[in-house]
Formats: sequence, C-alpha cells, structure tokens
Amino acid sequence: MLDFLGDLQRTHMCGALRASDAGSKVVLMGWVNRRRDLGNLIFIDLRDRTGITQVVITADAGAELHKKAESLRSEFVVAVIGRVKLRDANTINANIPTGEIEVVADELRLLNDCKPLPFSPADNEIANEEVRLKYRYLDLRRTEMQNNIELRHRVTLAIREYLNAQGFFEIETPFMTRSTPEGARDYLVPSRVHPGEFYALPQSPQQFKQILMISGFDKYFQIARCFRDEDLRADRQPEFTQIDLEMSYARPQMIYAVVEGFLTAAWKTIGVELQTPFPRMPHDEAIRLYGIDKPDMRLPAMSDVRSAFAPENLAALNIDPELPVIAIVTPKVGELSRKERDDLKLLFGDRRDAKVFEDIKRLEKSFPDAVSKIREIAKPADGDLLVVVVSGSKRAEVGSAAKTRQEAQAIYAAAGQFRLALGQKFAAKHGAFEKRDFRFLWVTDFPMFEWDETEGRWNAAHHPFTSPHEEDMGILESDPGAARSLAYDVVLNGTELGSGSIRIHRQDIQRIIFKALGMSPEEQQARFGYFLEALQYGTPPHGGIALGLDRIVMILAGATSLREVIPFPKTAKAIDLMMDAPTPVSDKQLKELGIAVVVPKKDI
Ligand code: ASP
Repeated sequence: MLDFLGDLQRTHMCGALRASDAGSKVVLMGWVNRRRDLGNLIFIDLRDRTGITQVVITADAGAELHKKAESLRSEFVVAVIGRVKLRDANTINANIPTGEIEVVADELRLLNDCKPLPFSPADNEIANEEVRLKYRYLDLRRTEMQNNIELRHRVTLAIREYLNAQGFFEIETPFMTRSTPEGARDYLVPSRVHPGEFYALPQSPQQFKQILMISGFDKYFQIARCFRDEDLRADRQPEFTQIDLEMSYARPQMIYAVVEGFLTAAWKTIGVELQTPFPRMPHDEAIRLYGIDKPDMRLPAMSDVRSAFAPENLAALNIDPELPVIAIVTPKVGELSRKERDDLKLLFGDRRDAKVFEDIKRLEKSFPDAVSKIREIAKPADGDLLVVVVSGSKRAEVGSAAKTRQEAQAIYAAAGQFRLALGQKFAAKHGAFEKRDFRFLWVTDFPMFEWDETEGRWNAAHHPFTSPHEEDMGILESDPGAARSLAYDVVLNGTELGSGSIRIHRQDIQRIIFKALGMSPEEQQARFGYFLEALQYGTPPHGGIALGLDRIVMILAGATSLREVIPFPKTAKAIDLMMDAPTPVSDKQLKELGIAVVVPKKDI
C-alpha cells in the first residue's frame, strides 16, 4: 500500500545531518539506497541529492512500522519522520559525513515502490555503459554522477559570475540559423513554411557574436550549445557546450586575461589555485619544441640537435642537413632490454618522412662526439630515455622554401607524436601524468592558412573571420603558407581547451581572405553577403574565443569521458539510448515538410 505525501514537508536533507542535530525531530525524504534487516532492527540507508543517512526501525517502533520497513526494497521512495540520535561510539562510520548520527523512525510513508532494477544506483561501478545510458535516470542517481552534475553547475555558475563581474552580458543566439563555416557538417532543420529550405543548427555562434559587436554590446558571452555532425571520435559529442565570448576593441592579451580569470574561478571549485598569467608560446615554437600545436608540458620539450653532427656525420647517416634532427628525452625510463628497444621502433612506426635512432648507445659507438654534444644539448638525467628523430633520408634535390618547411614540419610532427607515445608508454615510470599538475599554455600566432592536399587549395586554419597578423598583411597572397594569424588556443596538458582569434573588422580585408580561400565574389555574396555588408556599417575591431565546457568539467571531475559530465549524452554512434533518437518520422510529417526519404525506412 502506497501512501500520499499529504501536507508532509521535508525538513532536512539526508546528507546534511550532523552530531549537533541530535535530538531534533526531522522529516527526510529519499530513496532506499540499501536495507539491512537484522530481525529486530532494520537499517535503511536513505539517500537524496546531498548524501545518505542511516535510518533505524527498532522493534519497539510497533509491528505496523516494522512490517512497512520490511517491505522496503532498493530505490523505493520513502518519507521518514523520526528523531536524530548520536550513534554509539563503536558504530560511528567515519567514511560518511553523517556517520556520527542515525535517525530513529517514528513513522514511514511509502511514497512509491520500484520494480526490480537493471542495476542499482547504490553501486559504484557499472560496467555496461549502454545499460547506464538507457536507464540514464538511474545512472544519474549514482553519487558519482550526482557529484559530476553538481560540479558542472558550480563550474558554470563560477564562470558566469566571473564574466558578469567583468561586465559581460550573456546573450542568447538562435539555434535555427544558417550554416556557419566551422568546418564540420551541419545538422539541418527542414522548414515547413518554406518547403525545400533548411535551417542549420549552429556549429558555433560565431557570426552572431561578431554581429553583436557590430550591434554595440561590447562584451558578450554565452554558455552556448553547438552542433556539429562529425564522425564521432571517442571524446566528441554531436551537441556540446562552449563558453563562448567576444569583446570589442580586444587585443589578444585582453582575451587571455579574461579566460585566465574564469578558468581560475572554475579551478577554485575543486580547491586548486591556478597561477596566472599562463605561459605563451608562438605556434612555430610549439611545433619546434613539441611537434604539436597543443603541447603537453608535463614532459620535457624536444631539442634540435642538428648542430651536434659534423657535416660528414650527417652524410654518413644519410640525414638531410637542411632538415631538423630532434632529440626526445623521456624521464626515468631506466635500462631497456633489447626487445624493449625493438618495441620502440615499432611504436615509432614505419614512415617515409622520418626515422628514429632508438639505441643511442649504438649511435654513440660510431659517432661519440656527436652523441656527447647531443647529451649536452638535450640534457637527459641518469635513467632518462634519449632518442633521436631524423629525416627519412637525404633528399635528392632541395625544393622551394615552402617545400622544405613542409618536410621539416613532418619531422617535427613525427617526433612530437613519438614523444607523446613514449610519454604514454612509460607513464607508470615517470609518473608525470598522475599528479594534479595543470600545465596551461597559450599557443599564439597560428598560421593563417592550411594547405588542403585533396582539394588543392588553402583553407582557413581557424575560420575565415580570423584576422591575419598585422605584420603579415603583405605576404597573404605571395606566401600564404608563412602568413600568421591573430589566432590563439588555450591548451592544458596536451588538450586544446579552446580557440579564438582577433577578427577581421574591415570589409576590404575580409574580401582578400575570402579570395585567398578560393571564394569567388559571387560565392562570397551568396554565403556571406549580409556579413560583408554589416562590416561596412562601422564595425569596431573585436575578438573572442570559445572553450569547451564539457571537457573542462570532465578534467575537473577527473573523469575520462565527456559522457560522465553530460546529463544526457549520445553514444559514439550519435544515438540517445534513453529516448531512442534519432527515429524515423511519420509519412504525414515528411509530407508536410515536402521531404521524400530515399534510404530504406525502418518500421515506425
Ligand atoms: N567559434 C570558434 C569555434 O567554435 C571560436 C572562436 O573563434 O571564438 O571554434
């Protein structure tokens, strides 16, 4: 028999009771986390959002109450009316904050029962993620998920409060809009009113936030949902949340200061005080030192040790003297067996653009001077692993400067990947990833363009509204590969947390960039006509950035998947297992939209 709540009111939360509450009369409401029946005594761990309190039903509480307590099962919803009592010293549970007390029940109201569960929210680890996602409401009841979602709330609030205090307005922008060029596929929404036409869900509020600067709002932010129809990698979601912001009259340093400010506020929620300002590093230096645009600075940087080799050494080793020779140091690896060294070669892989000397002692036998100089430059400590990455082989002919640059980039990239792979492989030995060590970094001055091999043209490295570096305006057309932009990323421990840029605010420059990207004047007009026009009505210089909120919360929660910090995430196949989306829709809906589906339809 179920009871109704009537006018009963909850007076206390389960997780909040302490020894100082002893003697008070309380009304608690929550779920039966566990029940232990000792015959005379029945213990119920009652759980709500704040935690767990032990409730006792003693034999002298009366037969009726005792019977009710006996009938309780996991996840039944109950109201307990009782009195807080100090536990006997020998039954104190130091593991939970309410461990010094228990509540002696005078009355129980059974508000709802619960059918046998696919898994119990009382369990810590649930192996099957599909079942967790299907019964997400049960999964979210688990303490770990409750904590993650609470953390997300606190982090978001801290960021909002910080930005509000800095004079930012939170302004919403539309979900139903037109395609934005962030480089991914759009999710499309068909228009019933305009058959055959589609809105696109925003990949980011990029153009709206720039328009907001033209509209005079000066400092904008939004905790903004973004939608990108990408082939999902393990740590991507089709819809995700960005901390998106834009400022008029911004210089990069102003954006850095704002981001450092709200990240400091976010990290405070886990009790960590960040050191600001974060270090800054131009993109080309990041490539030279780390072989990647998102350096993980918890491990040593790489060094170019080309100067350690005499020209005849390079020739003997078939190394191209124009290309970098890179030493990588991985700390505390210790002696490696012959087999372990061979494994390193496999880890590096068989590549044409670069090769590795994984056995430095062998190299030393033939080139003692060179290796001693390498040690001087790379400075490995005793027990550190030292390897050297060089060009694949000496080039038959040296190409243009741009070609050499590309080949050098390939070697840096190969070395950078290997550095990370070694870091992962020997993680247990160097221990650098275990500590709560948050190494933030600004990577600045990204290249303006990226060469698209398959399309045979230049793409915007960030997006086409990014301002070229003021010093590189002159080489945009003559040497696009060398032109830098005013784009920056904020990076943490090898992960990109966010990207942004100072924007183009002049129509003439915007047109030059569109042209450099291969867009004809007609195409510019068709895709961005309204924007090119808006730029002519007194657009202030402006810039901004967007950071992935989900990833930030994931890192703060110490979780390893975005799905642990998103209440209702999708699977790697972009499916919502709880709601079962996507689904086919009825013929009537399709007809109204003027849509004919050509893929075979599943039964509705
Ligand atoms: N809209 C950009 C992005 O989502 C970020 C920015 O430039 O502000 O990557």
